[in-house]
Formats: sequence, C-alpha cells, structure tokens
Amino acid sequence: MFDLRILRDQPTIKFDRQLPVFNWPHPFSRLESCVDDGRHIYADRHEALVRRRAVYLHVPFCETICNFCPFGRERYTSAATVEKYVDALVQEISLKQRFIGRCEVDAIAVGGGTPSLLAPDQIARIGTALAQAFDLGRLREFTFEAEVKSVSQQKLQAMRDIGVNRVSFGVQTFSDRYRELFSLDAHARQVRAAAAMITSMFDHTNADLLYGMAGQELGELDDDIAAITELGTTTLDVYPINNLSATSAMHRAIRRAGLGYLPEAARVRFRMHAEERLRGLGYSPISGYGFARTDSRADVAGPVQETPTFLYHDLVYGHEDDEIIGYGSSAMSRSPGVSLCNIDNRRAYVETVIGKKSLPHDRIGRCRSPERGVVTFPFRGELDKARVPWHQVPDETLNALREAIDADLVTDEGERYVLTRHGWLFYVNLMFHLMPASGKQLISQKMEEMEHGGRLTGITDLTNLMVPTEVATR
Ligand code: SF4
Repeated sequence: MFDLRILRDQPTIKFDRQLPVFNWPHPFSRLESCVDDGRHIYADRHEALVRRRAVYLHVPFCETICNFCPFGRERYTSAATVEKYVDALVQEISLKQRFIGRCEVDAIAVGGGTPSLLAPDQIARIGTALAQAFDLGRLREFTFEAEVKSVSQQKLQAMRDIGVNRVSFGVQTFSDRYRELFSLDAHARQVRAAAAMITSMFDHTNADLLYGMAGQELGELDDDIAAITELGTTTLDVYPINNLSATSAMHRAIRRAGLGYLPEAARVRFRMHAEERLRGLGYSPISGYGFARTDSRADVAGPVQETPTFLYHDLVYGHEDDEIIGYGSSAMSRSPGVSLCNIDNRRAYVETVIGKKSLPHDRIGRCRSPERGVVTFPFRGELDKARVPWHQVPDETLNALREAIDADLVTDEGERYVLTRHGWLFYVNLMFHLMPASGKQLISQKMEEMEHGGRLTGITDLTNLMVPTEVATR
C-alpha cells in the first residue's frame, strides 16, 4: 500500500513522498451495483443533516479530445445527439425532483466535457428546468465551463439570462510545443479573444493552467504564468498534469517527442515556483490549486485568501453535511450516508432516462463520513471547528491532525484550523495523511490500477529535496 511519512524536522519538504494525484472526493467509498427505482436510495439519505447543497450537470461532448484530459467526455458528432442529451438532462431533473422535493441550492456547476457547445436555446431549457425543480432563493454561485473555440456572444448572453455568474475556461498552456503535443487545437489568439469576451460579460471568471508536463522547464512555466495573468480573470486554477489518468495517446506523443517525465520532486519545486511568481504578481491561494487576484477587501494576512472562493469546490471538498446532486452521464451525487454514480455510457444514460423513464444510477456506496470536513480541509485551507462532529471522528484522523500541527503544516487559531504555507504546498499529501486506513487502501488500489505496466513507478520520492537533518534543525 502507498504510504507516506511526515518529516517534522525538515524546514520545507515535510513528506518523504508525494502522491501523484491532485484531488479525489472523500469518502472514496467502495461502490456496489444498484438497481433501484429511487425510493430506497433516497430513503437512505440523511436529508435532515444537509446544510449546504450544490447541483452539478455533466455535458460530455467535446469538439476535439485533448489527450491529457482525465474527464468523462466523448467527441461531438451531431447537433441531434446533443439535443437528445439535453432532453435527458431535463427529464432527469424532473424525475429526481419526485424524491428530493423542491430543495434549496447554494451553488450550481455545469461542467464536462464542453458545456459551451450547447446552443443558446439548450442553455435556456436547462435554466428553466433548474428554476422549476429547485428553490434558487439562496443561490450564490452558478458556474458554466467553456472551451474557447465554442464560445460566442449569444451563448454567453444565454448563460447570463439563466443566472450564470461565473465562467471557467481551460487554457492549459500557451506553449506551442505543448499545445501540439496535447492536441489543444485552439490558437493562442483564439484563447485571448474568448477570454476578452468572457471577462467583459462576467465579474467572476477563471482560467486553468497546467504545469509539471514531461520535459517542461521553469522558464516555460514563467512564460505561461505571465501570459495567463494577462487574460484578466479573477481566479486561476494552476494544477499539475495527472500522468496516471492521461490517455495512452499522450504517453505515445511524449515518447515520440523524446521527453522525460518530471519526478514528483521537480513538480513540488514547480509548485513552489508558481506560487512565488503568482504572489509576486498579486495573487493569493484560495484552494488546493486555485489562486485569486488579491483584493484589498480580502483577508490576505494568512497563507490563504478567503475571497473569492469557488463555492462549488468548497462543497465538493467539504463536510459530510454538504450535499451534491449530479445529473448527466457519469455524474456523481453525494448525500450524508450515500454516494451515487450515474451510468458512465452516454447512450445507456439517455436510454434509461428517456426510454425507461428511470433514474440513471448504477452504482451506490453507503458510508457515513463524519471525518469528511477534516480530511478535505487541506484543499479548502481552513477548517471551522464548529462544523465538525469531533466525538465521531476516528482516532486515526485526530492523531494525524495532531501530527500535522506538530510538523507546522497546520496551525490552531482558536475557532479554526488553518494551513501554513508548508501545509499548502503538500495539501494532497495532507488529505491522504488525514484519511482513515480504509480510505488510504482504496486510493492506493486505484493508483496501482492506473499505473500502466509500472511505467511511472519511482516518481513519488521526495528524498532528494530533503535538507540533512543537522542543517534543518540548526
Ligand atoms: S480538456 Fe476540456 S475540451 Fe479538452 S477533452 Fe477535456 S473536457 Fe474536452
């Protein structure tokens, strides 16, 4: 089983190994197949415990397939296929409402795939279905993901009309060699034009940037950071490439180009470098890999800026009482005590919802997770102590938290725990460290499954970054 050790006496490198992934939903429970008309599933859900709720809609189509991308997606083939899928989404919203009622929602996210492939009238239909099914009186955030080639003024206006107040789009890199390597076929010119349109119409915008690609040099990361900050988005997601779940096409392209994978030690160095550059340019961390332009009204005294956050992510990586209701092929739902997965295959999903008028869940996990808010807190940067049912949290998580405080990864600030700068650098390792053993086993198993033929073994070692103990403790 993968495991890691906290290095208390090291000044910066606080773990002996680095997890080669950058997030996962907790609890990462074992899923069983489920055939149910909804009555039993929703009866098992501890609805009275729900404190905040998010809705997620998945749109799996993409015009082109980027080969580094780990998300559930497929190539766009026809407008008719998309129209049928939107019919199914609208139908699923109505089917589920019978079991969950007209409940309040705090955040909505439409992701994919490429939701900006939807036509303005399809965006409007989804907005109407959501407004009919949910009480949107306390909705604070409504995010739509966009891909730069498919963005248009009309689509952005349709998003605004249904209440979208945050648009996020992928840039990944401005480097010509990596854009070609990853099959990112939009030109940098198109990226800038779409960004200008999006930032002129929405107050809250986000752009994604990758780092740690095979063969990447720090100078190339500097160029990407300089270029992406010029787009003027309010936040940036700066995240390491996930070699384990990328397609074999990407690995073939890397081999053809003769590039070497960066070991985790180098990727940690890249992360430290990116954070320094971004802080120098007026940004502060807001989540595991999110940065926001520093706002004079925000609290930036600590290592984490508190506003603007990405509320949907705060719920996905939130507490046991944060509920996510997912719609669309492969969408996940998570309620206190129950996790549900929709059918992955888009055709089977549409057939189940439209043809059989049935709920499209095919896997279920049942487990309570009172420790969830503690395990996921390194992604959010702070933990409100009042939200945790401490008497139910397993001892192994409590002991791990104490160890993290002793190692200067976490500080106790009275009513909350807060990540230090060191903790921030290793938020993924900390999440793993805080998990009960059963969760660690499932993550390890998943990583082993993803390690194609041992191709990437040995990349997790951080020991060559360590300072000799006598120097570190001086
Ligand atoms: S990165 Fe975005 S556009 Fe590219 S394949 Fe993945 S979901 Fe589609």
